[in-house]
Amino acid sequence: MRSIEATTLYFEQAANELDLSESMRRLLLTAKREVQVQIPVELDSGEIASFIGYRVQHNDARGPMKGGLRYHPQVDLDEVRALASLMTWKTAVVDIPYGGAKGGVAIDPRAHSRRELERITRRFVDVVHELVGPDRDIPAPDMGTSATEMAWFMSQYSHYHGFAPACVTGKPVEYHGIAGREEATGRGVGILTLKLLSRLGLRVPGTTVALQGFGNVGSHAAMFLKNAECRVVAVSDASGALTRADGIDVMELSRYAHDNEGRVADFPGADAITNDELLSLDVDVLIPAALGGVLTAANVESVRARAIVEGANAPVEADADAVLAERGITVLPDILANAGGVTVSWFEWVQNRQHYRWGIDRVRQELDRILSEAFEQTWQLSQSRRVPLRTAAYMLGVGRVARATVLGGME
Ligand code: GLU
Repeated sequence: MRSIEATTLYFEQAANELDLSESMRRLLLTAKREVQVQIPVELDSGEIASFIGYRVQHNDARGPMKGGLRYHPQVDLDEVRALASLMTWKTAVVDIPYGGAKGGVAIDPRAHSRRELERITRRFVDVVHELVGPDRDIPAPDMGTSATEMAWFMSQYSHYHGFAPACVTGKPVEYHGIAGREEATGRGVGILTLKLLSRLGLRVPGTTVALQGFGNVGSHAAMFLKNAECRVVAVSDASGALTRADGIDVMELSRYAHDNEGRVADFPGADAITNDELLSLDVDVLIPAALGGVLTAANVESVRARAIVEGANAPVEADADAVLAERGITVLPDILANAGGVTVSWFEWVQNRQHYRWGIDRVRQELDRILSEAFEQTWQLSQSRRVPLRTAAYMLGVGRVARATVLGGME
């Protein structure tokens, strides 16, 4: 199933529960604007290359559109479209005043030098700068991008529009960013995992966790959960997977990955297993925190985790999701589970607009408050309507966007 079909299916399930009209459904499913652009750049070799970039602006009923900019070879319009709609529901679930958007460039960032990545980012801004901006659409890091690209983005945007730090979030702390943005998605995954464990009646100390992905999201989630006394018994990334029954020393692994181009393979403090084995470990919580489409109809039967927390966007395919529901495995959906990133992006944007600076304690405290509230609302709705957490989260998000659409009027 294509990603857009899965997000549409989840949307329809929520729309049925909310009894939304056909016309409202059509309005909310259609993107406001979709652009595909050519990005011609000179490579270090002197050769001219051209890449394809996308920005899908899904919905702005609740505020300026917000969402990441992804650099990955498999980026295409279909995927960006699905991810843009996820952002609309995500910002609505945590009730921050944004709509949803997503962008991407179809490149493998590891195949380019820093100078080439800078040129690609700046040329992309050259072609989209009129469509984005602090009150319109605010990009942020996503898969394959980081604070570095966001700094180039702001710098290039400022060539056209003057000083405008709020045009993009996830910037370096020393360059108009905010303390705590980098850790925010992973920290949020950790905060919400603890909330879920407590609702499932599981005692946190000693709870076993397996993490697929040890990038920005996975590593910060692992650190947070380890500090909360969970036992991180397995970690994987594209280079390989590791396990250790009495818990992996996450700090050590982090240092090791840092010294080894981000790769966890061959870490001496744990035993090697296959990536497939990690997904089928008998653990309390499995956290897919890297790519989309990790749990599919083909491998879902082997999952033995009690709960799944979607650190990545769309890591569970729709047919796998249905099987998990049947088997009574709780799934905390992406639009809530990984909303910590965009929440702290909002704080950064607010800080930029006020020309004021927030400290890390305030950022963490407000993040905790917002995520806890969204979790409780989702949990209550899922209980009272007897629907899975994913449907409840979509009901909250879609319902808020639908109400804003009606209140804003059509004239
Ligand atoms: N790319 C992240 C996401 O998928 C963050 C978006 C943002 O901060 O705007 O939620």
